[in-house]
Amino acid sequence: MTDLYRILPEEMDEIVVKLGQPKYRAGQLLRALYHESPRKMSDLHQIPSAMRDALIAAGYTIGSEEEVSRVVSEDNHTTKLLLKFDEQTLIETVLMQYSPSQDKTHPRSTVCVSTQVGCPMGCVFCATGQMGFEKNLKAEEIVSQVLHFARILRKRGEHVTNLVFMGMGEPLANYDETVRAIRLLTHPRAFGLGQRSITISTVGVIPAIDRLADEDLQVKLAISLHAPNDELRKRLVPTAGPHSVEDLISAAKCYFKKTGRRVTFEYALIDGINDSTKIASELARILKGNGAHVNLIPMNPTAGGFSRPARKKVLAFQQILRNGDVNCTVRVEKGSEISAACGQLRTDMVKNIR
Ligand code: SF4
Repeated sequence: MTDLYRILPEEMDEIVVKLGQPKYRAGQLLRALYHESPRKMSDLHQIPSAMRDALIAAGYTIGSEEEVSRVVSEDNHTTKLLLKFDEQTLIETVLMQYSPSQDKTHPRSTVCVSTQVGCPMGCVFCATGQMGFEKNLKAEEIVSQVLHFARILRKRGEHVTNLVFMGMGEPLANYDETVRAIRLLTHPRAFGLGQRSITISTVGVIPAIDRLADEDLQVKLAISLHAPNDELRKRLVPTAGPHSVEDLISAAKCYFKKTGRRVTFEYALIDGINDSTKIASELARILKGNGAHVNLIPMNPTAGGFSRPARKKVLAFQQILRNGDVNCTVRVEKGSEISAACGQLRTDMVKNIR
């Protein structure tokens, strides 16, 4: 069985011809898949029934996700879903909406996708990291998360405008499926999202960062740094072992050199752990002069007992970086009351089921 949502347009051309159909049918099929987003083969009314039957006979399917749970924040701007593909594949996907800028009528609608069930990186402050690694998602399961929200938005006359790979899992540890999903989601004959509207967030798998820099992709890269030195970073990201902070900064410089796209360093601010003024000065020192952009993320409370610093401390940390000539923003936190930190909804749900 092969899911039609993993097939690249060039592959679709070949499949259609092999099934004895004219090549233009591939375009019809792709338009139906990505503009109407059917949930099963029998909903594919835009192609002749003989072609639909031939696809089914050749083992093609549309694997559909089931929405197990939906939580919407009080301000209606954040929607978090728990999606199930099969008994072993239960993942979270989040939609974050931002008010439209003056020249736009529709809100910015960013979907945050998962790439793995659980995560092998084991960051101590992350609910997903604490559940361990279960499996990699397939490209079609990544694509389906976006299409699920695309269907919801379409009913409201809106559409997906941005995509972040910041949900459950380390996208670069599931490299091939992540890149295939990006190609499907950005291909003008498939979902057609602009490559520059996509951000991949990695905890720092350096060989994969180097590989990504050589792909013909214009996606943005964010590296989760969380600490200015190896000792503290290894406490927060136990699997950081082979890659030092210095190595990560060099990898970011190489990525910028090859792609022309500046890398953002994500920094989860945790009260009493990595938020002191001394640490801020150390961070400013190592990042100064390389055009780095730091995105501070005051962390959502998780079961690990970590908490978010007071606003005053967050602003003081930001000011030290700015004084050190490091460009720095504080991420607007969305939906913390609905367990928006990655992995929390699934963890809560699995606790209730098991
Ligand atoms: S923060 Fe990201 S990389 Fe770290 S454990 Fe959680 S999902 Fe994995």
